[in-house]
Amino acid sequence: MTARDLLFGDLWDYAPAPESTNHIELKAQYGHFINGQFVEEGQPFETINPATEETLAQIHSADEAMVDRAVKAARAALEGPWGSMPASERAKYIFRIARLIQERARELAVIESMDGGKPIRESRDVDIPLVAAHFFYYAGWADKLEFAFPGARPRPVGVAGQIIPWNFPLLMAAWKIAPALACGNTIVIKPAETTPLTAMKLAEIIQDAGLPPGVVNIVNGAGATGAAIVDHPGTDKIAFTGSTEVGKIIQRSLAGTGKRLTLELGGKGANIIFDDAPLDQAIEGIVNGIFFNQGHVCCAGSRLLVQESIHDEVVRRLKHRMSTLRVGDPLDKNTDIGAINSREQLNKITELVQAGETEGATCFQPECNLPGKGFFFRPTVFTGVTQAHRIAQEEIFGPVLSVLTFRTPAEAIAKANNSEYGLSAGIWTDKGSKLFKVAGAIRAGVIWGNTYNKFDPSSPFGGYKESGFGREGGLHGLLPYLEVE
Ligand code: NAP
Ligand code: MG
Repeated sequence: MTARDLLFGDLWDYAPAPESTNHIELKAQYGHFINGQFVEEGQPFETINPATEETLAQIHSADEAMVDRAVKAARAALEGPWGSMPASERAKYIFRIARLIQERARELAVIESMDGGKPIRESRDVDIPLVAAHFFYYAGWADKLEFAFPGARPRPVGVAGQIIPWNFPLLMAAWKIAPALACGNTIVIKPAETTPLTAMKLAEIIQDAGLPPGVVNIVNGAGATGAAIVDHPGTDKIAFTGSTEVGKIIQRSLAGTGKRLTLELGGKGANIIFDDAPLDQAIEGIVNGIFFNQGHVCCAGSRLLVQESIHDEVVRRLKHRMSTLRVGDPLDKNTDIGAINSREQLNKITELVQAGETEGATCFQPECNLPGKGFFFRPTVFTGVTQAHRIAQEEIFGPVLSVLTFRTPAEAIAKANNSEYGLSAGIWTDKGSKLFKVAGAIRAGVIWGNTYNKFDPSSPFGGYKESGFGREGGLHGLLPYLEVE
C-alpha cells in the first residue's frame, strides 16, 4: 500500500440513498401512439426492471397493419397541417416539448433507470438534460435552414422511419426526433423492446405540447416491427441506431429503393494514454470511458492503449480506482454501475469475458457484492491483451476493458486504426501538437482530447467503416432530414 491509497475497509461506508419512485405513474399496459392517440392493440410482451427482474408494464407489439396506420398518419400530417406550417411556428412546438421535458425531468430520469438499469446519477445528470438540450438546440434551427445551407432551398425529406436501441432510450429518441421535426419531416419511430417506457412518456409530452396528430408516431415491438418500418413503401428515409449486424440487414433491404439511410452502429473505441498524460485525470477518463452506463455505450473507450513505459503504473492506479466503484441498485444516488440491460446482454458479456480468459489474457475484477436478483456484472479489466484476441476486436457492450500497449505514436495510431469500427477515440497527452497529429491520423468520427464521453447537441456524432454513416447533432445532423439542391 502506498500513501496514495485510501482504503478504509468496512470502517466507513455509504448509507443507502435510493431515489423515490412514489411519484411515478405507470399504466399496466402501453401500446402505440398513432395519429395523436394511444392505441392498445397487438401481441403483448413485458418490459421488466433489469435490476429486480420485476415486470413494469405490458407492451403491445405493432404488426405490419399497425405500422401502416402510423405511416399513413405521418403522411397525412406531412401533407396537411405540419407541411404547411411556417417554420417559426414549427419551432415553437419543439421549444414547448423541450420545456415540458425539463418540467418532468425527475420523473423521466427515474423511469429511465427503472426500465433500463442505468444509474440514476447518469439518467438525472446526463441523459435527461441532454434530451432537453437536443430539443432546444434543434428548435433554434427550424426557421434558419436557409442560413444553414445558403442558396440550397432546403426542404423536408418526408416521412422518416426511425429505429433506436436500448442503451440511451430517451436520448436516442431525441437525437432522432428533434432534427427531423426541425426540418419539417413527420415521424414513425420504434423504441427498443426492453426500454419502451420513456418513449411512451414522451408521447404524453408530445400530446400535451399540442403537436398536430400524426407528426410523431411511436410504435412498439421487436425486430419485426422495425423491419416493417424499413420495408414500408411510405417511409422516405430510415435512420437506424443499433448493431452493425442489423444495420447491414437494413442496408441490404433498402438497396435499390431510393430511400435515404443513415446508420449509427457499433464501435470499439481506442483510448490512448501517452506517457506525458496527466495521469490522475486520465484514470478518471478511462473509468468514465468504459464504465459509464455499464459500458453499454457505442463510443465506449473499450480498448485502452497505454504507452509501455507507464503501463504498470496506469494499471495499478486503475485497479485501485475500480475497487472504489459501487455496483448495485440503479436508483441509489451512490451507485456508479447499475444493472446490465437484459439477461441476453449479460450472457453476451459473460461469453466474451470467458473467451478473453481462454485466449490467455489476464482478468481482474475488484471485490464487490452483487445484488442477489437482477442482471449485474463486475467492472472488469483484461491485461496482456493482444490485437488478435476477440476482446480486442469485438464490441462487448459491457463494463469490460481490454488493455494493450504501444511504444511510439505511430504504433498507437496503427493499433487504434486496426479495427473494423471507426466511431470514437480518446487521446491523453500534455502536448497539444501530439494530440492534434494523432487525432488527424485516426479514422474515427469522434475524438476526445484529454477527456472522454462528452456530448453536446451542437457537435456532430457518427462513424466510419462498420460504425456506419451519416451524422447526428450539430448542423451536420440537419442534412439527413433535408433535400438540398
Ligand atoms: P440491435 O439489436 O441492432 O437493435 C436496435 C434496434 O433495431 C432495436 O429497436 C431493435 O428491436 C431493432 N431491430 C432488430 N432487428 C431489426 C430488423 N431486422 N429490422 C429493423 N429493426 C430491427 O441493437 P441493440 O442490441 O439494441 O443495441 C446495441 C447496439 O447499438 C450496439 O452495437 C451499439 O454500438 C449500437 N449503438 C450505436 C450508437 C451510435 O450512435 N453509433 C448508439 C447507441 C447504440 P429490439 O429492441 O426488439 O431488438
Ligand atoms: Mg425494461
